[in-house]
Amino acid sequence: MMLTDYIIPQTQIAAIIEEAGGDLQIRKDHPVKSPEELAPGECLVKLDCSGACHSDLHAAIGDWPVPPRLPLIGGHEGVGIVVAIGKNTVESPVKLGDRVGIKWIANSCLNCEQCRKGREQNCVKALCSGYTVDGTFQEYVVSYVNYVTPIPEGLPSDAAASILCAGVTVYRALKSSQTSAGDWIVIPGAGGGLGHLAVQYARIRGLRVIAIDTGAEKKNLCLKLGAEKWIDFKENKDIVKEVREVTDGLGAHSVLVTASSSEGYEQAIEYLRPGGILMCNGLPGSATLSASVFFTVFKSITICGSYVGNRQDALEAIDIAARGLVKVHFVNRPLADLKDVYNGMMNGTIVGRVVLDMSKK
Ligand code: NAD
Ligand code: ZN
Repeated sequence: MMLTDYIIPQTQIAAIIEEAGGDLQIRKDHPVKSPEELAPGECLVKLDCSGACHSDLHAAIGDWPVPPRLPLIGGHEGVGIVVAIGKNTVESPVKLGDRVGIKWIANSCLNCEQCRKGREQNCVKALCSGYTVDGTFQEYVVSYVNYVTPIPEGLPSDAAASILCAGVTVYRALKSSQTSAGDWIVIPGAGGGLGHLAVQYARIRGLRVIAIDTGAEKKNLCLKLGAEKWIDFKENKDIVKEVREVTDGLGAHSVLVTASSSEGYEQAIEYLRPGGILMCNGLPGSATLSASVFFTVFKSITICGSYVGNRQDALEAIDIAARGLVKVHFVNRPLADLKDVYNGMMNGTIVGRVVLDMSKK
């Protein structure tokens, strides 16, 4: 099935890496999968835009212990229009012309124990957009009717894009954080893509935010978004002391690490109060968590990994954004700028997110 009156081209622009750590190539003649080739359950989405997440940079560098498929088209924060659906697809929840989002989890089996328990992201058959299947750094992406996220009317595509990974991830982590309104949460990485959304989702849960990151621009953004305290990790010599001081000497109830570096995790257990919880989102490839066993037990500390979210988390996170309660702070740039965006991520100069606009050439 194809969108009538719409001509799907045979080739498109795509950003491709041939080998881990290799050059990122912008190709103008990458093939588009034709509607006839789509398998049942697959759909073709013409993308308006895609956010660029630090996970895409990890994939491009190849610094994670699980290798990506190569050659690879990265990207997993895409929004676009369904222009074709594979023939013999039954009971598709989306139809031609719908505007949908593509997430890190591109598809899962929906029938295994993990899927049934709502941990679709841990399904052994899960496909990862921009990691194990081609992602959204191209004009047309193949996705799955049961997995795309409907985007509500009124929420522009570029404003929705980064909710699909950064937003969903921190929203799910906060949901699992066993916190109550009035609790203190520390967010290392608060000025980045995940972090600035974590500040906002935390605020609407009634949490009191201590933001940790670096630089005047990130400081201004975090304070504007409602953080009560700012700590610059490059300038401040004693983060544990600072956090304790703000929290009446007791320490924070929770920490949500959204930094991409291992340093973001250091000291977290020291500045948690007894009964506190460390939520781990940031994914430095080769870092290990080191914590005093004695104080982890003695202070009844919980350490919890949290990996993206399921389809329900995505709908909830998107709904909150559609109601204007959370807003992605982003700039639009063309796909051809992706290499430069990666350089900005490596240098820590990107405040919030960059969204790649497919109509900008
Ligand atoms: P980003 O580059 O936009 O933001 C990271 C921020 O961390 C930057 O602002 C940087 O200045 C800050 N930072 C670096 N070192 C720090 C330190 N020592 N203390 C405090 N802040 C520090 O990256 P992003 O797109 O937000 O992604 C962040 C991490 O989360 C990446 O490792 C990414 O792969 C990971 N991630 C995990 C999931 C998941 O499911 N758990 C999902 C998406 C992304
Ligand atoms: Zn991501």
